[in-house]
Amino acid sequence: MSTQKYVIDPPAQAAIAVEGTDALFPVRRIWCVGRNYADHAREMGKDPGAEPPFFFTKPADAVVADGAAIPFPTLTDDLHHEIELVAALKSGGENIDPARALDCVYGYAAGIDLTRRDLQSAARKAGRPWDMSKGFDNSAPIGVIRKAAEIGHPASGRIALSVNGAIRQQGDLSDMIWSLPQIIAALSTNVALAAGDLIFTGTPSGVGAMRPGDAAEGEIAGVGSVRVTLAR
Ligand code: MN
Repeated sequence: MSTQKYVIDPPAQAAIAVEGTDALFPVRRIWCVGRNYADHAREMGKDPGAEPPFFFTKPADAVVADGAAIPFPTLTDDLHHEIELVAALKSGGENIDPARALDCVYGYAAGIDLTRRDLQSAARKAGRPWDMSKGFDNSAPIGVIRKAAEIGHPASGRIALSVNGAIRQQGDLSDMIWSLPQIIAALSTNVALAAGDLIFTGTPSGVGAMRPGDAAEGEIAGVGSVRVTLAR
């Protein structure tokens, strides 16, 4: 037990439930990949595959537990859902070889990259950072993590999201432009990845707005589900 004293109480450790154990996965940082499915890149008005993968972040404490109700985010009239496969890392490093990249993965979950699309469009137009459109409070609902040791490393399978029971997004993990090993390799040239890091791997097409009171449910074959409700 550390005897280190702090001038204020240390912040709580952000964490996510893991299937089959009471122990939690502690979140260090959240990395996200932009435009990793061609049909979503096109619906955002971009040319898919024309550039290497690019990354943005959310704060660790943006995570929201599965099934939670969250306040409707401030400052937006265009809150979008983006269902994504999330990889939870148990180790990391710099310049990771794609052939060894999956050795870093502890497990997987379904996550929703909530996005204030109106703020993102304004930031893009002004050449400003995306942070306030992506990294706001409660912007990362995430389901229970399942261990790679049990489910393997899913590279194909249905990924879908419905709002109030109506299907909005539907795709297949095999439609990713950059595979998870390629993502980990590229990201680890930007930063030293580490245990506790989460990687949101991008979303298929069909992103759209949610209203106060809406309930979203995302599902990834072989991985699991994530549910979130927006307060009225
Ligand atoms: Mn996304």
